[in-house]
Amino acid sequence: MNNYEENFDKVLRNIEEIRLETDEHQIIRIIASSKYVGADEIEAFYKVGQRAFGENRVQDLKEKVIKLEEYPIEWHFIGRLQSNKINALLDLRPTLIHSCESFEMAKEIDKRAEVKGLKQNILLQINSACEDTKAGIEPENAIETYLKIKNELKNVTLKGVMSIGAHSTNQEEIEKSFKITYKIFETLEKDGAKYCSMGMSSDFELAVKCGSNMLRLGSVLFK
Ligand SMILES: *Cc1c(COP(=O)(O)O)cnc(C)c1O
Repeated sequence: MNNYEENFDKVLRNIEEIRLETDEHQIIRIIASSKYVGADEIEAFYKVGQRAFGENRVQDLKEKVIKLEEYPIEWHFIGRLQSNKINALLDLRPTLIHSCESFEMAKEIDKRAEVKGLKQNILLQINSACEDTKAGIEPENAIETYLKIKNELKNVTLKGVMSIGAHSTNQEEIEKSFKITYKIFETLEKDGAKYCSMGMSSDFELAVKCGSNMLRLGSVLFK
């Protein structure tokens, strides 16, 4: 089994440094994106202190939830969600679904949550880079959609927004997409938005500088 401790500490120190420069009152949550690894690696990471893990596929999440049942792990769903998987996902009681990409999807989650007698926490995914390949709502419709979900659907609880930074090597372009997401988040704070989930292994430093308070880190942790 890998020893993740040293690597983890390095990443944490890096985040902490930027956090203090940016906003010392900001608490930054780290979701370890565990799609590249199995239950054993997650267990090893749990033992060095990580508690929140994010999965991309419902089937993978299910297997890991079952294998790691004894640990009080907080499971997040961060991948693209197909509507025929929503029931199975809700049954796993994820802490947060990051990837609700439209009002229609929120409605589907709401409908199934109602049948099960659950309330499901979700984030609205925003396609801030405006890339065709990416899921999420266009920035110009994000606020309206957020409020519509909040006002009309009673079995989903919106906790904020999620975005994937622009797929680019150009820092300015990535920064632009993060700033768009953050601006929407800031506007929605008065409506209860708590989490701005943005920043992955290649761009988390920039994401923290742009106001992210929830990072989804995969390869930088599990290498
Ligand atoms: C895989 C994945 C991540 C983590 O990616 P890394 O670049 O390995 O840090 C974050 N968010 C989503 C939605 C992902 O699919």
